[in-house]
Amino acid sequence: MDKFEKAKGLEESDKVKYEGFFGSSLYFKVTTSKDHQVIFRVTNNRWMCDCEWSALHKNYCSHIMACRQWLMKREKEASGL
Ligand SMILES: [Zn+2]
Repeated sequence: MDKFEKAKGLEESDKVKYEGFFGSSLYFKVTTSKDHQVIFRVTNNRWMCDCEWSALHKNYCSHIMACRQWLMKREKEASGL
């Protein structure tokens, strides 16, 4: 399973919890074997996650992918598409 499929699974199985908008960042909690904090900083369009994978790679981890999918889905709904 690649991380895109994994992210889709996380998003669809409701593992993404939106915690709120604080300062200029969106906060999410993604629950896998552990809880991960994912933050989207709106001011510079940056995603961050506290997992090890994210610290070792420059790319987005499955937790961030799941939150991005969550966000895109809500944006679509909000714009009536
Ligand atoms: Zn992560």
